[in-house]
Amino acid sequence: MEKTDENTTLQEIKDLLVKFRDERDWKKFHDAKNIAEAIVIESGELLELMLWKDKESVEELIENDASFKESVREELADVINYCISFANTCGIDIYQSVSEKIEKNRKKYPKELVKGSAAKYTHYE
Ligand SMILES: [Mg+2]
Repeated sequence: MEKTDENTTLQEIKDLLVKFRDERDWKKFHDAKNIAEAIVIESGELLELMLWKDKESVEELIENDASFKESVREELADVINYCISFANTCGIDIYQSVSEKIEKNRKKYPKELVKGSAAKYTHYE
């Protein structure tokens, strides 16, 4: 099977990020606090693209404006890259933590109780 971005493994992305960081001697800046701040800042940049636009306009732009979609793609990549870097810095196994959290949320939000509802779990107990 031809390798695509979609089947690149998480470990390969981690390795690329470490290589990028180390080639620039930036490890000294990549502590947990700095990277957590970078996650929020990059999330803000993603949000900024949609600031003051209504939901329909954003959906239309994502679907029909290649430049807008590219900007969204790049900001999303920034967020994901910093999330992966944060996990690297803190020694967190991403697959394990994500799968455990999904299981925890499965119990917290039983489908029989929450299906079709956006209510927080504290409001249906
Ligand atoms: Mg950015």
